[in-house]
Amino acid sequence: MADLQTDVRYIKGIGEQRAKALARVGVTTLRELIGYFPRSYEDRTRLYPIAQLPEGEEACCVAMIAAEPVGRRITGGRSMVRLRAVDESGVLDVTFFNQEYRKSSLHTGETYIFYGKAEGTARRRQMVNPLMERQENQRLTGRIMPVYPLTHGVSQLMLGQAVRQGLDACRELLEDVLPDHVRQQHKLCYVNFAYENIHFPASFEALEVARRRLVFEELFLLTCGLQLLRHRRQDVAGPACHAVDMDGFYSVLPFPLTEAQRRAIDDAIGDMTRGRPMNRLVQGDVGSGKTMVAAACIWFAAQNGWQSALMAPTEILARQHYDNLSPLFAAFGLHVALLTGSTKARERRAVLEGLALGQIDLCVGTHALLTEDVQYARLGLVITDEQHRFGVNQRSALGKKGDDPHLMVLSATPIPRTLGLIIYGDLDVSIIDQLPPGRQKVDTFAVDERYRQRLNGFIRKQVGEGRQVFIVCPLVGDGDNLPDERKAATEYAERLQNEVFPELRIAVLHGKMKPKEKDAVMAAFVAGETDILVSTTVIEVGVDVPNATLMVVENAELFGLSQLHQLRGRVGRGSHKSYCILVSQDATDTGKARLKALTDTNDGFKIAEEDLKLRGPGDFFGQRQHGLPGLKVADLSCDMRLLDEAQSAARALLKADPTLSDLSHRKLKGRIAELFTMNAEALN
Ligand code: ADP
Ligand code: MG
Repeated sequence: MADLQTDVRYIKGIGEQRAKALARVGVTTLRELIGYFPRSYEDRTRLYPIAQLPEGEEACCVAMIAAEPVGRRITGGRSMVRLRAVDESGVLDVTFFNQEYRKSSLHTGETYIFYGKAEGTARRRQMVNPLMERQENQRLTGRIMPVYPLTHGVSQLMLGQAVRQGLDACRELLEDVLPDHVRQQHKLCYVNFAYENIHFPASFEALEVARRRLVFEELFLLTCGLQLLRHRRQDVAGPACHAVDMDGFYSVLPFPLTEAQRRAIDDAIGDMTRGRPMNRLVQGDVGSGKTMVAAACIWFAAQNGWQSALMAPTEILARQHYDNLSPLFAAFGLHVALLTGSTKARERRAVLEGLALGQIDLCVGTHALLTEDVQYARLGLVITDEQHRFGVNQRSALGKKGDDPHLMVLSATPIPRTLGLIIYGDLDVSIIDQLPPGRQKVDTFAVDERYRQRLNGFIRKQVGEGRQVFIVCPLVGDGDNLPDERKAATEYAERLQNEVFPELRIAVLHGKMKPKEKDAVMAAFVAGETDILVSTTVIEVGVDVPNATLMVVENAELFGLSQLHQLRGRVGRGSHKSYCILVSQDATDTGKARLKALTDTNDGFKIAEEDLKLRGPGDFFGQRQHGLPGLKVADLSCDMRLLDEAQSAARALLKADPTLSDLSHRKLKGRIAELFTMNAEALN
């Protein structure tokens, strides 16, 4: 066996057929196979006397077959085999459905271990379709059995066997990526022990030891990887900047900045004047004014002769930044350009030329800023807005455009501290914990269908007062199909227009629209030409329409709390009293508790903590969102202590060997590169 990347089909005992089944659970290589961890475990270690089998629970007993099995056909072409087994304590009646072979393979006087759910009274117990095996070649009982997450066509038995083969095949291959001294210092077991016992624990103690090591390893690798990414940039010189009197900028603003905004700007300017590239996250709740912080830094960079790039996750948002910032900067004679996927070829050429010649001071855009032909004369500052939507890789891709430019990321998603530590482990953080003065709390209500008439009346009333309304349309798929975003939004808007609000001006916005169409719809809404904007969650981030005072979210139960909080942040941006109404049919207690978190507080951080508690970290930590390796064993809601330990171990190691160039760290470095899907050189 060459290495852990070996295709599972070549592993002894697996073959083509099983390899196909394994592919269905995402396992194609040996590494993936042994890394396919159980979701839980079944304790089959204890043998009970029949009379003491715990009722209604899965458990084992040893019993002798007392009479020949009897078989018969039952309705629907099914078959049934029954037998009676006994031990000193009592009688066990066993029934097998559709296992006709049992009739001829089992005989009076034979002793077996039975594992199944026992029902019935102590004197007369029953089991249906139990697992059974001879005591002398015990494989399925008498031990702690792994329970794997399954999918159609893949059974526990098959997976258990495949993992067994995999572990046997890689006994010699598993290298310990943890340096010996780290392993010893933190009292972690050997890697072979860990893999063996996470799958087939010798005891619950052994399982805990194994799990502890794997969790530690996972968090350690993640921290090392992020630190390496960060370190890579600390060695180099950043675009040189000297202090500038910022009053030149502040004095043209229509409002004084908040303390918190000033602090974030000071942090960033401090970074930029230090000679090294800045790596800063600016985290602030929706509406806290992050754009102005970005603008101040862009202005500062421009005073120092540097170009800036500002990247937004959607066209709408990029356009909005462009519309806000170009007049502001025009006052200083600075040039701002917009570059998105829908920028026309001719316009695009002009922008590219302006950037390459250094005539453009700020380029606002979407992913389009990342394409290869975009070259800057002297890119000094890169800002990504709503960073959680971009992966770390994208962030560094933009960073590569210049000569180690200063990087700033803006995020409105308040991430619980634990997650923040990991996701943003490579960044310094400024928090804007203050809203501009005069902001009012958005009153939030969770309602159900019974409230519909009143809700419609309320919408009319708001519009009657000259305000505007967002409605996030319901996302109901038909049966198994995912909801069709376009259809859902369009049909809902039509229905509202025809049946509910014929007198109001309703527009629709969804992700499948061409960027130009979206822009036109948004522009009309901003200009007050439409009353109600029906949309999918494309409006989730950033969009600023101060006259909008009501946000209605249909099917609120389908959204994450943080996402709802973001949606709510679309209103309450002007001087008018604003409302958020969450329509939900989920009458369960958890459903209600979830939405209550939103009606109770406007504090994004509290909501995020609540979200994490209710949903678990999985949703927060999707690969999709950050481009970081996912966590398979670590559970951030309860492995905090280990996280601290792993992080300090990682920092200590990198302090001693900042690039992991020591020969003894070769495996560690290789594994990190693999996890972050980079080649090892990329980490140098
Ligand atoms: P976010 O942090 O959600 O990106 P924005 O930067 O879009 O918030 O700002 C929200 C609104 O608040 C904008 O209309 C902006 O002009 C306004 N704003 C920002 N800073 C201040 C301030 N210090 N005083 C008053 N209004 C402000
Ligand atoms: Mg914003």
